[in-house]
Amino acid sequence: MNASPSETLKILFAASEAEPFIKVGGLGDVAGSLPGALVDYFKGTPDLPTLDIRLFIPFHSKIQSSRFHLEKVASFPIRTAKSELLSSVYLCTDLKFPAYLIAGEPLPPDGAVYDPNPVVDGKKFTFFTLSILEFCRLQNWVPDIVHANDWHTAILPYLIRTQKEYKEIFSQTRTILGVHNLPFMGGGTQGGLVELGISASQNFRLPKWARHMPLPMGLAESDRILAVSPGYAREILTPEFGCGLDGFLFTCKEKVGGILNGLDTKVWNPSHDPYLVSTYSRLTLKNRIKNKQEMLSRLGLEFNPRTPLIIMISRIDQQKGIDIALFALQNMMERKFQLIILGVGDPVLEDTCKALEENYPERVRFLQRFDQALSHQLYGSGDMIIIPSRYEPCGLTQMIAMRYGCVPVARNTGGLSDTIIDQPPEEGQTGFLFEKAEEESCKEAVERALNAFINQATWEKIQKNGMKTDFSWKNSAARYAKEYLDLWNNL
Ligand code: ADP
Repeated sequence: MNASPSETLKILFAASEAEPFIKVGGLGDVAGSLPGALVDYFKGTPDLPTLDIRLFIPFHSKIQSSRFHLEKVASFPIRTAKSELLSSVYLCTDLKFPAYLIAGEPLPPDGAVYDPNPVVDGKKFTFFTLSILEFCRLQNWVPDIVHANDWHTAILPYLIRTQKEYKEIFSQTRTILGVHNLPFMGGGTQGGLVELGISASQNFRLPKWARHMPLPMGLAESDRILAVSPGYAREILTPEFGCGLDGFLFTCKEKVGGILNGLDTKVWNPSHDPYLVSTYSRLTLKNRIKNKQEMLSRLGLEFNPRTPLIIMISRIDQQKGIDIALFALQNMMERKFQLIILGVGDPVLEDTCKALEENYPERVRFLQRFDQALSHQLYGSGDMIIIPSRYEPCGLTQMIAMRYGCVPVARNTGGLSDTIIDQPPEEGQTGFLFEKAEEESCKEAVERALNAFINQATWEKIQKNGMKTDFSWKNSAARYAKEYLDLWNNL
């Protein structure tokens, strides 16, 4: 590493959402946690350059501005052939790093974070990315690295490499595009891009159908593509998970990598969790049972410490493979277990959950809502959690569950493969994996878990193995830091 603390590494981190401002999905967790974790890592590691990382997000109407100290720091027009849109930039200084929120007409006061109309989102996020670059130009702040995330900000590397007004200013800037969920490429947004003067990619390596979609446009131009787990990075190079881009990605596979997301270990900490009736740690695991007792009595289910409580906490949709687990469980009702499902989503799949509850009211509950408190309580009371995802770029659920001593039974894919160890307990087992996104395969793994549960000592060993695994952001921050420094050193 040929950098020194007297030098400054400038990182522009852009995302469509970030905690603590606004969170809709996992991207909000990552964008909210990673910049702060990087600040800590750079401060705590000798011989690294000084880090100047700045977060950029849109000023969504749903952001409660009264919760933050915000100061308007710039206002300028974004000019296109057809229009002129005023962009306003607000600086928040409440975090460990500067965060900029960008407002303007494409982000109306009553707008959703993600609009159902892709053209509206296309215009909104293109306006956002153009504003970021214009702001940097006006402030004379040229980042060494631009780290964009998913299709919403994928246009950044595209603009920097292909548009003459940016090419020169950012000629020394290196770009990373984070892939959190490949199938969401920004299809249908083209009208919004065109409105702001952005035309389709001319990159012949991309399949034709992808040349007007923001994510592929950005993938083709970025210096590095980082998926949210090493497993998912490998998978997106294959036809099964590549969503039609596998051929293109394979041609540039040396720039594709993967880094696991971390967990906010302060929020997810069973020994200091305000939502739990009884807090516990690896050393006081026996206190955990009180949570299960309380949960079952609250839901009108019989409590027996030796009856395994299976939980599922998930978006109820195709990706998550809820149907696979439901059919598997339905066919093993002769086994002793109880089941609690927490989730909302696809109405057809929700009906399947409801039907299972109706058929087995003494054993099954379907809690059809999004409920943060309840999720904590379920992680703290369930014996095992089923995660039957068809694909899983990283997944937080399994990491949270392991931290809470709730053993995952999960599909062997993406980030689930990278985080769950399915070896004998004395060799570090933390969960149970199954290969195929099929009922039989899932059933076999659940059977193995139910059998293991019978032996209390074995089960405790598996629980404790998971609880002692370090899923904190510290490890991920170190890996991202290396990526940044490698790109920087090659400037
Ligand atoms: P994804 O981001 O694809 O939905 P992840 O596993 O990365 O999946 O993250 C899901 C997060 O959302 C976890 O923190 C999980 O606890 C939470 N979650 C999912 N459904 C619910 C729900 N109905 N109520 C509360 N939390 C939920």
